[in-house]
Amino acid sequence: MNTVAGVAVDTRHWIGGERVASAQTFPDRSPIDGTLLAEVARGGADEAHAAVVAARDAFPAWAATGRDERARILHAVADGVDKRLEELAIVETTDNGALLRSHRRGVMPRVAHNFRFFADWLTGLRHDDFDTRGHTNHVSWDPAGPCVLITPWNAPLMLATWKVAPALAAGNTVVLKPAEWSPLTASLLADIAAEAGLPPGVLNVVQGYGAEAGAALVGHPDVRRISFTGSVPTARRIAAAAAANLVPTSFELGGKSPLLVFADADLDLAVDLAVEQYDNAGQVCLSGTRLLVDSAVADEFTARFVARVHALRQGDPRDEDTDIGPNIHADHLARVDGFVRRALASGARAAVGGGPNTDLGGLYYRPTLLTGLPPGAEALTEEIFGPVLTLQTFGTEQEAVALANGTRFGLAAVVVTGDPSRAARVSARLVAGTVWVNCFFVRDLRAPFGGSRQSGVGREGGTWSFDFYCDVKNTVTAPEGWRNHG
Ligand code: NAD
Repeated sequence: MNTVAGVAVDTRHWIGGERVASAQTFPDRSPIDGTLLAEVARGGADEAHAAVVAARDAFPAWAATGRDERARILHAVADGVDKRLEELAIVETTDNGALLRSHRRGVMPRVAHNFRFFADWLTGLRHDDFDTRGHTNHVSWDPAGPCVLITPWNAPLMLATWKVAPALAAGNTVVLKPAEWSPLTASLLADIAAEAGLPPGVLNVVQGYGAEAGAALVGHPDVRRISFTGSVPTARRIAAAAAANLVPTSFELGGKSPLLVFADADLDLAVDLAVEQYDNAGQVCLSGTRLLVDSAVADEFTARFVARVHALRQGDPRDEDTDIGPNIHADHLARVDGFVRRALASGARAAVGGGPNTDLGGLYYRPTLLTGLPPGAEALTEEIFGPVLTLQTFGTEQEAVALANGTRFGLAAVVVTGDPSRAARVSARLVAGTVWVNCFFVRDLRAPFGGSRQSGVGREGGTWSFDFYCDVKNTVTAPEGWRNHG
């Protein structure tokens, strides 16, 4: 048992309703100041196998549990999250460096909502029966079996429960593998679920490295679904493992999303929305990191944007006044800085920022805006996943759309314009799973969520989640007394 920010966290695995240790551990450090938070059980093939077997054994009883009872237990999990909200918020901030105020007010309430939403959606889930020459078609969502859920470090519990909640609601059992850079709140979730009465083996948590625990889980032959959020290279490896067993996969991957500012936009709003893209120190898959601005307003926009960035407060994410905290890990920071160094060396300019925040040291990187990048530059095409935005200008709507769609990604897009007909025209032509017009990050769990092109495979949210996590079945029943006369 470890104590992190005053909260007891058991860093052994959670398998079949029991805490299980591994022969080896891995260190988990805080990005805030490098403190060693815990030595965490380092799972491999044995732990992965034990967890999948536990999930497989628990599956028939959980699948047979009525919808109302499943929903009741998921609501109890949500209550447990609410009850421990402050503990979850401070442990998550200590573990991954994202702002405490966001965890308190936005993220952890959303974690509870994930459970409530899918519990309620389950109880209302139905498709109207329909008739084929007197025969009734009845569509049902049958639980699929053990699911492996693999998640990243940038929003650990929010992204984990966005998968765990619908998978459990659907009647499946799950094995969750959290990211090795921020594994702690997944372990607290296991405690909360057990207290809420979730039967042993229905939720299992295996910790460890991707190449060890992760690879063993996604290659296991008894797994019926794999849902993954993370990077494109990892998705390729998981897709190859899933192909061997023909397991359906859901992938939520990276992005290089555009934020388009037209000359008819409210520039104050445009600047607000652009600055918001530094949220979580730029470690948000959906971020509109490519600012595409009409050349008629580009100078004015840039001047106002830079002034706003200078006013941002960077520092300890536990401080309520902080706007930008640290990045996750020294390796990650070096990668982010590498993109900026190479861009500057090739002639780009940093209108603001351009390197680590040496006043703070550690893992703090100055919010940066790169301009003057040549078309095709890596900073315009590769996901940087740090507080680094780029700015390009356009002359026509046509050009704006071409630039917006000019990457291999298609996760999200933000359109800022004062003209509703332009908003409709441009949105229709953008390749993106989500388009926000004059807003950002408004998320409703009834809506489909996912990415196009290399930003993802499939959609989750509302019934789309149940379509993925279930074997959807059609039962055709003949009318009474019917005989097949050929
Ligand atoms: P990552 O791909 O390196 O790791 C994600 C998870 O996969 C981790 O738990 C890791 O241990 C595991 N993993 C690694 N190799 C594996 C393997 N061979 N088999 C099974 N599991 C393996 O990604 P990351 O750096 O943790 O996360 C950042 C990425 O996630 C960014 O690209 C970001 O855009 C993306 N992301 C996408 C969304 C979305 O909803 N589209 C949300 C958040 C983050």
